[in-house]
Amino acid sequence: MDNWIIAEEAYSPDRARYFETIMTLANGYLGVRGSSEEGNPAEHPGSYLAGVFNRPGDVPTELPNIPAWLGVRILVDGRPVTPQKGQLIGYRRYLDMKRGVLVRQFRVKRMGRITRVHVERFVSRSDVHTAAIRVSIVPENYSATIQVVADLDAGVSNSGRVHLDVTRIEPFDPNSYLRTGQTATCPFQAPFRGMLLETRTKESGINIAQAATTRLSSGDEPLAAKETLRVGDCSIIQSVTFNAERGREYVFDKTITTFTSRDGFADPAEVSIHCAVRSLELGYESLLEAHVRSWAEAWRRSDVSIDGDAEAERAIRFSIFHSLACAPISSDKVSLAAKGLHGEGYRGHVFWDCEIFNLPFFIHTQPEIARNLLMYRYHTLAGARRKAQAAGYRGAMYAWESADTGDETTPTSAIHLGQEIKIWCGELEQHITADVAYAVWQYCQSTQDTDFLLNHGAEIIFETARFWVSRFEYNSEADRYEINCVIGPDEYHEHINNSVFTNAMARWNIRLALELIEDFKQQHHQQWAVLSKRLRLSDKRLRHWKRVADKAYIPYSSELGIHEQFDGFLKLDRVDLAGLNLNGVPADAVLGRDGVQQSQVIKQADVVMLMYLLSDQFDRAQIETNFDYYAPVCGHGSSLSPSIHSMVSSRLGRREEALSYFRQSAAIDLADGMGNGAAGIHMAALGGNWQAIIKGFCGVRASEYALEVAPALPSSWQAVKFSVIYDGSPVAVTVTPHDVTLDLTEAEPGRNIPVEVAGSRRLIECGRLHSFPIDGERPGRAEEPGVAPEFEPSPAY
Ligand code: BGC
Ligand code: BGC
Repeated sequence: MDNWIIAEEAYSPDRARYFETIMTLANGYLGVRGSSEEGNPAEHPGSYLAGVFNRPGDVPTELPNIPAWLGVRILVDGRPVTPQKGQLIGYRRYLDMKRGVLVRQFRVKRMGRITRVHVERFVSRSDVHTAAIRVSIVPENYSATIQVVADLDAGVSNSGRVHLDVTRIEPFDPNSYLRTGQTATCPFQAPFRGMLLETRTKESGINIAQAATTRLSSGDEPLAAKETLRVGDCSIIQSVTFNAERGREYVFDKTITTFTSRDGFADPAEVSIHCAVRSLELGYESLLEAHVRSWAEAWRRSDVSIDGDAEAERAIRFSIFHSLACAPISSDKVSLAAKGLHGEGYRGHVFWDCEIFNLPFFIHTQPEIARNLLMYRYHTLAGARRKAQAAGYRGAMYAWESADTGDETTPTSAIHLGQEIKIWCGELEQHITADVAYAVWQYCQSTQDTDFLLNHGAEIIFETARFWVSRFEYNSEADRYEINCVIGPDEYHEHINNSVFTNAMARWNIRLALELIEDFKQQHHQQWAVLSKRLRLSDKRLRHWKRVADKAYIPYSSELGIHEQFDGFLKLDRVDLAGLNLNGVPADAVLGRDGVQQSQVIKQADVVMLMYLLSDQFDRAQIETNFDYYAPVCGHGSSLSPSIHSMVSSRLGRREEALSYFRQSAAIDLADGMGNGAAGIHMAALGGNWQAIIKGFCGVRASEYALEVAPALPSSWQAVKFSVIYDGSPVAVTVTPHDVTLDLTEAEPGRNIPVEVAGSRRLIECGRLHSFPIDGERPGRAEEPGVAPEFEPSPAY
């Protein structure tokens, strides 16, 4: 099995929408589902631009489906050539993850004529405004007239909601835009006209310009053909007709460029045309080469290989591929949506998924992208402040679902299990605010990016802490601070009081702010003077913050030795989930909404999630007791759940259990494990898969003190190889059952890096390779939490 390939080996229209999702191509700017070029009623095509939102009337803000640009149809003597017509005698569609290319090959026999078609496309990673499609056609056993029809089509909607008006639709002559012109050294002349389509989002007024140029060739030579162009109200269609000879290969290239008014261009249409013509001059191969080079560089930093488990290796590459595909490479104003740029699910909204599940992969392998993602939260602070103020609180209260401005975009109702239900998450799922602060701190610890911390990160941490201080309510009878009426990560229980997860993360957020303020006072006087004045952080106010944190209530049952998920949780019915044989069906579908609310059945990791995030605050026995209480009642009704259980199992040294949770998580997208793959990719699960391997099995943790590696590999795994960046230095790591090798030859010599491998602490030199034998039987994490380690001097290796 080639672990770089995801394939649909037999034509399966009944699973078309699922394949479209997992074969989506994207570059952080533009995403396009893996739909066929010729179209098929079974499909749900879609293409989206990161950050281009629209709000139609009373429906929440959403990411509009932009005009369809994939269209290329082939007709032989007027009859369409598609896998659906005639006899399909060969079919394969595959995603080449190494090169970022989607390929579709088929052979069809119709009226005795056999046509072989090979289509490939890419959405350029090296130039995010460009995408290209190459269609090769071979009339195997006949000669005939072949017509290729290519178009741009604005007749699109999001499930019937029309977001776009057409503002310009016309052909253009590429020859008048050529840079090289027709000179002796560059005898280039475009034989066909180009197509321009400009639309504008109805409410948000964003102009989207798309320009397409095409070219026909055979045997590397451009081919003359009859061209016609038809301009309709919302589509522009080009048709190229030629006489094809038996056995010869004909190649049709379509290059599409996309620019919007959000990109800062006064006239995105003109820029699109210029770039489309430039792409035509460069040619498909050269565009492809630059794109593949860019993917190679991304993989060089981010690949993970696993010896001994091909299935897991393919799953992790799949996770990395789609994470990188959606990552904003060059913008710090957009983030990762819960469903990626892969579908209309959750309307393109950003949840805590990004910060808690996806960010670690970027922090450790592409920190500049992690910074972009966090800057999105900085740019949306104004929206978070508005939300806090509207709800009667102070500081910044992040939206549960966020889009362009940071204002709350969670829908207030939805159809669930066939019934219209009220959605409370926008009002009540408040832990997101602490999750954002947590992510900022994770990034700062691993990268030591002081510039980000001083100028952006600290403000997020202070403003979120301020929110929590205003959110905690004082209970004078019990002399403690409580948070009432929320939803925790487990969304099955709403309007709950004192969610352990929420209260503990909120307390952590306030304490982090207080520690940072001490640090600022001592080391960054100037920044502190400015920030404390602007945010009005007086000493009196900060004393109150400390009081709130010290008296924050964290529910605990001394009888069971566990944290009670929220007030009253332990009084609910304990249901035997194993006995219910859910087989992938969500527990609320079996027990009903009331049923789950009245029981201890939970949707996803909640207390277990807390133990993962704040692992320093719990010892092994505490984690184990809580895990053993909560894991049996967890229905994994969210894709965010199995990966966390995998990591905590790894932490507990339960390797095979961890592997089984990992496989469950990997199957969510690779095997449509939750049955909802059509709506988009499960972005968080992809990030969770990476964490389950790197942080779980390999036990990597980047604290401010050291880069830790405390492995507990599954028994069948012989080696895991990956890279991380710690404090700016690239570290190539190989973990085997017997040793850990840290290759620092790429890191700048002369520096030392503090590491802790399998419990032993060292300062190791950059520029060299270091090997550490490990005891394969136990996960070697030092037990004492939160202690600044004493480092032994680097021994001679
Ligand atoms: C999710 C919530 C979300 C809501 C509305 C639910 O399915 O679980 O997190 O806010 O949909 O989008
Ligand atoms: C989960 C949330 C998640 C959301 C978006 C919901 O089903 O419960 O935790 O943020 O989906 O992925």
